[in-house]
Amino acid sequence: MTPRVGVLALQGDVREHARVLTALGAEVMLVRRPDELGSVDGLVLPGGESSVIDKLARSFGMQGPIREAIAGGLPVYGTCAGMILLADRIENPITGQESFGGLDVTVRRNAFGGQVESFETDLTVAGFDAPLHAAFIRAPLVTAAGSDAEVLATLPGDLGGGIVAVRQGPLLATAFHPEVSGETRFHELFLDLVRAA
Ligand code: GLN
Repeated sequence: MTPRVGVLALQGDVREHARVLTALGAEVMLVRRPDELGSVDGLVLPGGESSVIDKLARSFGMQGPIREAIAGGLPVYGTCAGMILLADRIENPITGQESFGGLDVTVRRNAFGGQVESFETDLTVAGFDAPLHAAFIRAPLVTAAGSDAEVLATLPGDLGGGIVAVRQGPLLATAFHPEVSGETRFHELFLDLVRAA
């Protein structure tokens, strides 16, 4: 079966996700309207600016349908801003900022101030047999994870050891951007979740 995967295309690095998913054999559909959401087997929430995506999602009438789809078991993968949008709790939202939720975690936006605002590092990821090179761009951190949220990766100790990859059932989230560094394993894992759903 060729999985049909939507990329929420309101703002952010939509094209990079579409490229990786297409290369992995998925049929990719850019999703902007509620009726488009009905025809996908999984959804990617890209990196970008979570407060902007949230605002656009609400003005396009997408917030309710996305929340319903998540509650109904749609597999969703969020990177960076997408992770913030999947989180049940945002520690430091801008005024009025909401998330779709679904993932039982608390996130802190822009968790790395000053010098290390953007950086790259190697990560050990649960279930991957070799380390992963990850790009963090004004990235969030998971500051608390509920018992159903499985932690897949944490930062090395010298970078603070925070949680940067989480899975909860069909929901997957990374604080970094595999789609910009030629890394495909998280998208492969996501397509496995889509096929299993
Ligand atoms: N700082 C952004 C936010 O709060 C996320 C950055 C990113 O997606 N690269 O949404």
